[in-house]
Amino acid sequence: MDAGVPIDKSDQDLAEGEAAAPLSAAELLKRDSKQLRGTILDELGEPTDHFSGDAVALLKHHGSYQQDDRDLRNRKDADGNRLGKAYSMMIRTAVPGGRMTAAQFLGHLDLADRYANKTLRLTTRQGVQFHGVLKDNLKATIKGINDTLLTTMAACGDVSRNVMCCPAPLNGDPVRERMQEHAEALAAHLRPRTTAYHELWLTDGETGEKTNVAPKFEAVEEPIYGERYLPRKFKIGLCVPEDNCVDVLTYDLGYVAVRGEGDTLEGYDVFVGGGQGVTPAKKNTEPMVAKRMCFVTPDEVLSIATAIVKVQRDHGNREDRKQARMKYLIRDRGLDWFRAEVEKYHLADGGGPLKDARGVEITDALDHIGWFRQSLPEDDATDPDGGKWFLGVDIEGGRIMDSGRARWKSGLRAVVERFGCPVHLTALHAVLLCGIDASDKPEVEKILRDHGVPLADELSLLRKYSMACVGLPTCGLSVTDSERVLPQVLDSLEELQRKHGLEEERITMHMTGCPNGCARPYTPDIGLVGKSKGRYTIFVGGNAIGTRLNRKFDDQVPLEEIADRLDPLFARFASERVNGESFGDFCNREQVAAAA
Ligand code: SF4
Repeated sequence: MDAGVPIDKSDQDLAEGEAAAPLSAAELLKRDSKQLRGTILDELGEPTDHFSGDAVALLKHHGSYQQDDRDLRNRKDADGNRLGKAYSMMIRTAVPGGRMTAAQFLGHLDLADRYANKTLRLTTRQGVQFHGVLKDNLKATIKGINDTLLTTMAACGDVSRNVMCCPAPLNGDPVRERMQEHAEALAAHLRPRTTAYHELWLTDGETGEKTNVAPKFEAVEEPIYGERYLPRKFKIGLCVPEDNCVDVLTYDLGYVAVRGEGDTLEGYDVFVGGGQGVTPAKKNTEPMVAKRMCFVTPDEVLSIATAIVKVQRDHGNREDRKQARMKYLIRDRGLDWFRAEVEKYHLADGGGPLKDARGVEITDALDHIGWFRQSLPEDDATDPDGGKWFLGVDIEGGRIMDSGRARWKSGLRAVVERFGCPVHLTALHAVLLCGIDASDKPEVEKILRDHGVPLADELSLLRKYSMACVGLPTCGLSVTDSERVLPQVLDSLEELQRKHGLEEERITMHMTGCPNGCARPYTPDIGLVGKSKGRYTIFVGGNAIGTRLNRKFDDQVPLEEIADRLDPLFARFASERVNGESFGDFCNREQVAAAA
């Protein structure tokens, strides 16, 4: 705990005699949870198929959500009696910077086959999710994940979540490699120190058998989070300016690299206050793009993140979770106030004054799908085909499975087992099979094609730059489908592109099953956001590089009519665009929007 720095927002800025605001139930739960233990251990030992509400809230910090199959909510037995919910756990592995070893990837596939629904779900933030894990298998799954030397700790919850950065080892670029090191360092630095995770999931039994004997509780210091952790989730991303493939401006904290002479990293421009989530019923909620705040040198990456997290910890809204993200703190208090506060905390922790931002601009975002050089050949650096390569493979809907359309799971497993290649995860649902010798490229391609996996030459730009969140049936907040209908939506939009001669256009499209925006639908050219069962809000006018919000274009559009509603707009774009502008730029220039 910081000397002299109050940790409760309710204690902040109070006039004399003014009472502190009462803590919300969520805040009380965290405070009284014995550092995220709560009743989880007791409930693990109970013969039930689900956890209590309080345990569910705390489990998020351990990387797990309790869910139920929404398709089965109305199921009945043979006599017509309603059956209860079909509960299961979602478990999320944090993968800082998206880089997995071959063993980690194969270990996750094995765990999915053994305990989950035999699929792995790539998250929109470079993590990996298991779905359909029964409560009885929760501990064994989490233990198995940790056995691969990855963790689910802080993959969800009111803490800093998975730290993202571009995972592509392009040409061995030293700046990208430094960025990866910073992503991993940030993840380790901001991970909660509580021993609850180890105690609950990793202590007893190779097979993870249950125990409900808790050791004596001894609090450890949480030097960054304090006793109530953060008011809400906190997201961090890093990118190089020529490749914002992780969408850094949509997070609470974004670092954009400033390149120096000769492939060195001078530091980063720091952006704060991005966020996608919206609650339509709450007028004061909105998506925001992060604002540029300052510049940091490489050795200040951790200290500035610490100061920013602490400002949010102490000043973020702890009474209303809908207003608790850091974007609202900055909106309401102003960037100047926020910057001054961060500087105060930075100085208090021994850091220096904040430096002015360098003004580096984001210029592109790459899909990384296809073959790319990873490193030059050692024997002949001029050999155009030599050295190591990586292959980016699009995973439709982010779901690694063997479906009727392609056997992604078996195909990827075969390649990774054969070549032992590291697997990197992008923020756009691609996997990069890394470290492939040039001479092995044909065999890798053959294995994947034999499994029906579409490679770069079979995919439109629209498909490469599209993604969907999970949506129904597992996400408890979804109002409609997302991942399951993505292929159908892409088919119809590709047809529309062909109709207007736009099939070579890069049009980015993100889709979600509700307005919470997990697949970042408020910045691409087209955003499709679930509004009600089978109906979507269409947004247009963002861009591929994630630097601008899009605008609402149409609302409550039935799934089958999405392409029809966009048809006139595609027609206008094809005939009225100027200077090769993108679809999003055209919509933005024309201020295309729904009638108010
Ligand atoms: Fe669920 Fe909504 Fe997030 Fe999609 S955007 S995963 S439906 S909360």
